[in-house]
Amino acid sequence: MSNPKLSQFRRIVVKVGSSLLIDAAAGEVRASWLAALAADIAKLHNEGKDVLVVSSGSIALGRSRLKLPGGTLKLEESQAAAAVGQIALARIWSEVLGDHGIGAGQILVTLQDTEERRRYLNARSTITKLLEWRAVPVINENDTVATNEIRYGDNDRLAARVATMTSSDLLVLLSDIDGLYTAPPGTNPNAKLIPVVNAVTADIEAMAGAAESELSRGGMRTKIEAAKIATSSGTHMLIASGKIEHPLKAIADGGPCTWFLTPANPVTARKRWIAGSLEPKGTLTIDAGAVTALRAGKSLLPAGIIRVDGQFARGDAVVVRGPDMHEIGRGLVAYDADDAEKIKGRSSSDAAQILGISGRAEMIHRDDLVVGGQRGADGGR
Ligand code: GLU
Repeated sequence: MSNPKLSQFRRIVVKVGSSLLIDAAAGEVRASWLAALAADIAKLHNEGKDVLVVSSGSIALGRSRLKLPGGTLKLEESQAAAAVGQIALARIWSEVLGDHGIGAGQILVTLQDTEERRRYLNARSTITKLLEWRAVPVINENDTVATNEIRYGDNDRLAARVATMTSSDLLVLLSDIDGLYTAPPGTNPNAKLIPVVNAVTADIEAMAGAAESELSRGGMRTKIEAAKIATSSGTHMLIASGKIEHPLKAIADGGPCTWFLTPANPVTARKRWIAGSLEPKGTLTIDAGAVTALRAGKSLLPAGIIRVDGQFARGDAVVVRGPDMHEIGRGLVAYDADDAEKIKGRSSSDAAQILGISGRAEMIHRDDLVVGGQRGADGGR
């Protein structure tokens, strides 16, 4: 299979590491490099693609602005440094994207925001809305509240979670190295760049373990972890050097990089993930008309629901049953059990009136629904 081209993707997450963004000696952002990257992002954006940025740098920038001495920071010190750095980082992104007439929207997430279903749905709605408004979400971990026990720690895996959360079709990790090598390229003259990885095997993991990479937290190992998350959920990933100016243009022009290809298409993989990874918290029993609609690929509306069982919250996984109690599928529900009970059997406009809010029209959106037969035999992620 020939490698994909940047131009064929519709939603791209670009992860930028601290060591690229911040000039450690000067303690400041590498402004001209960042301006060139912003020009690349603007080009993709103007071609109609959705672009999301995952930007590190809050702690490094805060540290230099506060003129903190070298050495390891204690937890509260790195949290406080991040508070100073993040505000500066947000301003810089806003300016460089603003120069191209693009609005930047800051999103700071914690681990729970992607691992708890309800919060996951919530974060996803916000990001999706920003994209709909043609803004560029600029995302980082909320380092001011993240603790050592509960945090991503590295933005490689965070970026992969963001990419799968938003059904992005490509994740670009800009690194200080242009891809995965067979051996550490600095010390081994026979080391070769691997242009394509079709599956993250034990051999590939071993190469990552050996390869020397970034100064920042990531390194190659978390990039391989990111590749596993991305490719098993339908997102292609690539690692390329961010040390050059216009790194995205270089990729588009066929410059060196390592592609990690996903075997699946995004929707199928996401649905496998829904079906395979969650404990159902309740059951929705639906009428025959709704069964037909679901099998035809439609969303589940409140009108088709005849019975609600279980104590579930918005975003939890539930089982959907037909009138004969046969399981039709599973999905992530958009309302909690109490609200679902109130609006079952009602039209979507009645539902909005009953709840006094204008929530989602669907009880389960078809993107969040796996109808029997679509569930992967392997359970997916
Ligand atoms: N969230 C951290 C920061 O912005 C960076 C984590 C990483 O280097 O991957 O400073």
